[in-house]
Amino acid sequence: MQVFDLEQLLSGNRRALAKAITLVESKLPTHREQAQQILEQVLPHSGNSIRIGITGVPGVGKSTFIEAFGLYLIGQGKKVAVLAVDPSSPIAGGSILGDKTRMEELSRAEGAFIRPSPSEGALGGVAQKTRETMLLCEAAGYDVILVETVGVGQSEYEVAGMVDFFMVLMLPGGGDELQGIKKGIMELADALVINKADGDSERLAQLTRQQYTSAMNLLRHTSFWTPRVMTCSALKNINIDAVWGMLVDYCSQSKQEGAFDAKRARQNRDWMHHLVREMLMLKLQQNPAVKGMLPGLEKDVAQGQTTAYAAARQIMDAL
Ligand code: GDP
Repeated sequence: MQVFDLEQLLSGNRRALAKAITLVESKLPTHREQAQQILEQVLPHSGNSIRIGITGVPGVGKSTFIEAFGLYLIGQGKKVAVLAVDPSSPIAGGSILGDKTRMEELSRAEGAFIRPSPSEGALGGVAQKTRETMLLCEAAGYDVILVETVGVGQSEYEVAGMVDFFMVLMLPGGGDELQGIKKGIMELADALVINKADGDSERLAQLTRQQYTSAMNLLRHTSFWTPRVMTCSALKNINIDAVWGMLVDYCSQSKQEGAFDAKRARQNRDWMHHLVREMLMLKLQQNPAVKGMLPGLEKDVAQGQTTAYAAARQIMDAL
């Protein structure tokens, strides 16, 4: 077992943090075990942050925004960790988020810690590793955690399920896009931020903001918070402070309502259930008795010789 210095991590030492994350991301069972021990120890020191999810199609300006936003926050005395959940990285090594030179200035900043997406994890997948890394960053004193993902599929749901606030970056020029954006994503969003509101696009961005504002008002919102629609320019550093202002607003309102902690508690509970389901499936797949009877049962069910219910019962009984 490697020696690990918890005090170093808690004091904000980057090397200790990077080492702990390496253990979390490792495939070796001994490393996983050590990572779990570290996580148990850091848990009481975690949680003192605001966790922000950021998504948007490739090219919308996510890395430009995170660079501008991160540098602004560092200017405000914050420590900022940037994590990524990249759905493409496990597949054939191709990555949407990882391969360009991104956030150069931010990555050199003293108060910033940037970690690319882990490659596919075993139980719980990439999301599990990102959740664990988030706890480590919090224990190391990072008070704003930005979790970036690409708006192309399932990963938005995973990220929305691990953050306090979920933000969708958009391009000026609603029309077609308004149709194209998945309704589900709109429902996840606590804010839509229309980026590139500068130069010739400024007017269009304002128009787009009006359109999205009406579209968002059509959705029914059950919580205390009505999702905001704003514009910004990551490139020209316009309205970046207003985005932070909105987040501060959200935090104080949700804490007043008791919703902040409640949401985290719910996320933790949901994730536990998710892991239990995954663990059960794994156990099922590895069980020799189940393995032996499965092909026959599948055939019987397909041919209508037994009911799906009866077959499922037999499998459960074999477990
Ligand atoms: P990502 O793929 O979502 O991470 O997008 P990038 O941050 O790589 O940005 C894609 C392109 O849009 C780059 O050429 C950026 O310079 C440009 N871009 C990003 N933000 C802005 C902005 O606020 N205004 C303008 N005009 N261009 C921007």
